[in-house]
Amino acid sequence: MKTILITGGAGFLGSNLCGRLLKEGNRIICVDNFLTGSKENIESFLTDQNFKFVEHDIIDPLFVDEDIDEIYNLACPASPVDYQDNAIRTVKANTIGVINMLGLARAKNAKIFQASTSEVYGDPLEHPQKETYRGNVNPDGPRACYDEGKRCAETLFFDYQRTHNLKIKIVRIFNTYGPNMASDDGRVVSNFIIQALKGEDITIYGDGNQTRSFCYADDLIDGFIKMMASDNQITGPINLGNPDEFTVNELARKVVELVGSKSEIVFKDLPIDDPTRRCPDISLAKENLEWEPKIKLQEGLLKTIEYFKTKI
Ligand code: NAD
Ligand code: UDP
Repeated sequence: MKTILITGGAGFLGSNLCGRLLKEGNRIICVDNFLTGSKENIESFLTDQNFKFVEHDIIDPLFVDEDIDEIYNLACPASPVDYQDNAIRTVKANTIGVINMLGLARAKNAKIFQASTSEVYGDPLEHPQKETYRGNVNPDGPRACYDEGKRCAETLFFDYQRTHNLKIKIVRIFNTYGPNMASDDGRVVSNFIIQALKGEDITIYGDGNQTRSFCYADDLIDGFIKMMASDNQITGPINLGNPDEFTVNELARKVVELVGSKSEIVFKDLPIDDPTRRCPDISLAKENLEWEPKIKLQEGLLKTIEYFKTKI
């Protein structure tokens, strides 16, 4: 039985990861400050004797008595609305918070995993994006707290590896959706499904021709676990995402159709620095982890629609 610490464990991906690793027979220490996560996401685990919850902000040093085998560092607001509302805390989580978690990994001789992001590529000029692409990020715009924060977190991971020989694992996650997403966090999949279920207008930002590639949470969690279990020389960064690329217009039409909704589509202003195209090249994940997503957009959306029906 491994002891695994998950920061951001009460969030969307963190709670899916806690559930999966508990089911596989591990002991989980879930660390979260509920900035964007919720107690509801972890409620069903609280009675499990292998699950321990620690309410804590990773910006403050964390002391743990137990031995720890693995750390998954997911603590950081992920939706553009949330991280822009908490810009300075986002930078702190990705710098001071990351240093604290790297220090904990060093003290415990634990392997440490970083949830990085496709946002390190900014508004990419190369398609699809390979890990070797250095990105096109505006360092001063409203998305920079997240994009540059996550880039600095990757730098810190490699500096700790070079300096202290730490075992590091970095994945760059592309847009992921599924159960336990917060219904009010402003991300496109949750927004469209909630709007369609309520019969409200579907809000497309800009002309809707921008693209994203949407990965279902279960597929992504498989990738996390394969990455953590990979040989020590595999550090990443490795892209994890679904390479099927859709425009936001296509997503809106699909959600309306699957819900069977009467919602109208309306167009609103495009947020500043909103990336035009985003699609992962996942050759490295296929080669190093034998991983690729299995769940198609329609199947994943149907499961997510069922989840949100219980929430409204
Ligand atoms: P989320 O907002 O649902 O979860 C983040 C969790 O971290 C929340 O429970 C929040 O309360 C917690 N948290 C935030 N700051 C914290 C702090 N300082 N101390 C302790 N806890 C803190 O987001 P998510 O979609 O589950 O994302 C999880 C991770 O994956 C994030 O690091 C995010 O950047 C990364 N990621 C997600 C996606 C995606 O599409 N979901 C894409 C790229 C990267
Ligand atoms: N978007 C939209 N309507 C919404 C929410 C988002 O058209 O109600 C767009 C947003 O402008 C972006 C894409 O959908 O082009 C994905 O946005 P999201 O916030 O989910 O994540 P991002 O990929 O931008 O980090």
